[in-house]
Amino acid sequence: MHADCIFCKIIAGTIPCDQVYSDELVIVFKDIQPRSPVHLLVVPREHIISLSELEPRHDALMAHIMRLLPTLAKQQGLEDGFRTVINTGPAGGQVVFHLHVHLMGGNIRGI
Ligand code: AMP
Ligand code: ZN
Repeated sequence: MHADCIFCKIIAGTIPCDQVYSDELVIVFKDIQPRSPVHLLVVPREHIISLSELEPRHDALMAHIMRLLPTLAKQQGLEDGFRTVINTGPAGGQVVFHLHVHLMGGNIRGI
């Protein structure tokens, strides 16, 4: 728990969110500023700053997230596919420095 991290506050329950899934490793909630009809954020409960800070001990967590994504997409009705995005670092467009995967769908065009 990092006191100045908005996603840690959401995980701790001190800031509300529109939660769609939760387990012992992650919490999933709707992006507050959706860029597509479905726009979820998959957030590990552990405060990991970004992909750049991942360590071998996170391997099971990351595999869990990867395998969860298609399940969540299906639950959201994204039968034909979905987009996942991980922004890393300021130059990568990361704004919230607590690792998260964007799960988007509904109106995806070619990149
Ligand atoms: P990134 O640029 O990958 O760091 O994306 C951060 C995302 O977090 C953005 O899409 C924001 O809209 C989203 N976001 C920021 N604050 C909140 C919040 N309180 N609840 C839900 N989503 C948020
Ligand atoms: Zn955090």
